[in-house]
Formats: sequence, C-alpha cells, structure tokens
Amino acid sequence: MLGEGILKGLAETAKNFAGSYVSKERLTTVQYPEERIPTSESARVFPFLVYDGPDWEAGLRCVACQICEKECPPKCIYIEKSKDKKPDYVGKLQIYPARFDIDVSVCMSCQICVEVCPFEAIKMDVEFELSTDDRFGGLLRNRQHLAKSNEYYHQIHPTEASEVDARLGEEKAKLEAKAKAAAAAAAAKAAAPAAPAAKPAESTPKPAEGTDKQ
Ligand code: SF4
Ligand code: SF4
Repeated sequence: MLGEGILKGLAETAKNFAGSYVSKERLTTVQYPEERIPTSESARVFPFLVYDGPDWEAGLRCVACQICEKECPPKCIYIEKSKDKKPDYVGKLQIYPARFDIDVSVCMSCQICVEVCPFEAIKMDVEFELSTDDRFGGLLRNRQHLAKSNEYYHQIHPTEASEVDARLGEEKAKLEAKAKAAAAAAAAKAAAPAAPAAKPAESTPKPAEGTDKQ
C-alpha cells in the first residue's frame, strides 16, 4: 500500500512518545543540569595529569619529557622543563614540568598525548563543563587545574586505571630486582680477597767466567 512505511514509522514514533510518559526506559532525555546521566567509562573529553600520593605537585608522574607536546597535532600543549630536580612522592629526584598548560579551546580530544606518554602521566578526563566567558585565559588549563589524583582516575576509568597500576607495579618490581642484583654484585666484589701482588721477575744469573763456548 502506498505510504504504508510512513504510517508504520509514525505509529512507532507515537508509541515511543506516549510510552516515554510511563516507561522510564523510554526516556531519552533528562532535565539537565538538575538531572545527570552517569558518565560512561569510555567517555573521553580533555586530558588531565595524574599524580600519586597526597601532594599534587610532588606526585605528578610527568617528567617533562615533552613527547606529548611534540606529538600533539594542533600544538595546544605548552611545557617548560624545570632547571632543577625535586623529590617525587617516593623521594626520588626528578625533573618536573615547571609549566604544563593545555589550551582546551584548541584541543581536539584525539588522545594522542595519552598514547605517546611513556610514563602513564596523562589521561583523558570526563569533565566537560568547562565553559567560561574568558575566551583566552579561562580555557588555558595550567598544571594545577590539570592535576588529578590516581584515585580520581580509578573513579572515572576503573578498568583502565587498574591495568595501568598493574603495569607500573610490574615495572617497579623489575627495577627493584635489578637494583638488588647490582647491589649484591657490588658487595660480592668488595668482599672478594685482593689478588696477591705479582713477584718481580728474577734476574738471569751471569755465566761464570771461563765457561763461555770457544
Ligand atoms: S587530546 Fe590531542 S589535541 Fe588534545 S592535547 Fe592531547 S594530543 Fe593535543
Ligand atoms: S605527560 Fe608524559 S609525554 Fe607529556 S611531558 Fe609528561 S611524561 Fe612526557
């Protein structure tokens, strides 16, 4: 019948429209901002910097290697390396980013910075309410704005954060085992008895007079 498809489509729409008043599963919208849909674990908005321990500044995993800055396609990451080293959250001296800014008005959420970081230091956030009337300064997020704890990372991306923790734990264990083996080898070398000094070569005795062959 001519128009049968249109009628079927309209009937389906009418059924869903009427059903949305009685069935919660059919509600596709919420009264934002009073009501919010929980963010999906796979959501990715803008990057943030992960820190470990209680102090965001000491605990930043970022060591200012600048790989992400070089690889970012629209060049919206600005990093300045520190001239000195500071103890990180486990007390190891590290170079740190004296400046780490991301211009979120330029960022295209491609996640390349996350993929290239060798230190699991930068991850994608799910925060999207960043609108401001300050077009320039307001959208330039500095390292303090960007720093978020590893606990927060676990809240927003639990599966990924657990995998990262396991990987970092394995790497740490390998490094500790290597350091222990090196220390044991050095201790064994120091404890080994010193080799006896070589005796000076004895001088060849001169032949007695008159024994020369004629
Ligand atoms: S998500 Fe992409 S565009 Fe945004 S800072 Fe990272 S690399 Fe740059
Ligand atoms: S976030 Fe990662 S890739 Fe970027 S500078 Fe820091 S350590 Fe290097």
